[in-house]
Amino acid sequence: MPGFEMFGAEEKKEVNEVLETGILMRYGFDGARNGMWKSKELEQAICSRFETQYAQLTSSGTGALTTAMVALGVGVGDEVIMPAFTFVASFEAILSVGAVPILVDIDSSLTLDPAAVEAAITPRTKCIMPVHMCGSMADLDALKAICDKYNLILLEDACQSIGGTYKGKPLGSIGHAGTFSFDFVKTITCGEGGVVMTNSKEVYTKADAYTDHGHDHAGVDRGADLHPFLGYNFRISELHAAVGLAQIKKLDQFLVVQKKNNQILKSYVEKVPGIAFRTVPDPAGDSGSFLTWFLPSQAATEKV
Ligand SMILES: *Cc1c(COP(=O)(O)O)cnc(C)c1O
Repeated sequence: MPGFEMFGAEEKKEVNEVLETGILMRYGFDGARNGMWKSKELEQAICSRFETQYAQLTSSGTGALTTAMVALGVGVGDEVIMPAFTFVASFEAILSVGAVPILVDIDSSLTLDPAAVEAAITPRTKCIMPVHMCGSMADLDALKAICDKYNLILLEDACQSIGGTYKGKPLGSIGHAGTFSFDFVKTITCGEGGVVMTNSKEVYTKADAYTDHGHDHAGVDRGADLHPFLGYNFRISELHAAVGLAQIKKLDQFLVVQKKNNQILKSYVEKVPGIAFRTVPDPAGDSGSFLTWFLPSQAATEKV
């Protein structure tokens, strides 16, 4: 039940407000933008909806993962433990900062197997990156305990589980940082976009600068900004942020619809003999965007 299926008047209104000002960039042009700060508004909405202190929008979920790793100090030669089952962007982002992806087995939750994670730790391990695959979540208590024990960073790739929770806390808000993607097929979309969420001011400050060529964004004159960090360009545009702002206001409605549809489908599928559903570490927190099950044999699976 991705957000693009409920695209409507709300998105058009937000985008038109940006078009009226003609200021499509998120920084500067304070007078001409006539009070329109869609990216800032969306960041504030993300902080309050997902219970996180800081949010930095990016141009994609992949850009958000790369930015998060830079801001968390993950770099050349560091090993990042990630699941073998994921979308390729998780892998690309690790390589993009010169770190080494360590692919580890999943369990029946279809996310990182905590025992396999612990077995993969070496003196070079810096970060554990669970991917909350297909609307559900990893066993965050177990992974957090491992991070605490070995003094490792926990980075949540929550790109596929917007609106899911673990023990009452929003996915993406639990690790040292978490990311969402707002690409066209995610639960809410900006067309293209992503976000880094964190409760660390230091991580946020680095993420903010990194996405915009190292600008410190400290004053009102962009040309006079200092550049305390080396950066890149992962900026989101005001047009994309405007779409996201309309979508986040409808997120709870999307979740109600997708959870309801998920239950209806499940009520049919569970009647089929031999079917087993994936393990969900906190069933109440499943976002309902996927229904995933296992069949008893390879032959039966291929037939289906
Ligand atoms: C979609 C996705 C991403 C990347 O997001 P883009 O916005 O498409 O770059 C990263 N990780 C996972 C698990 C995803 O599903």
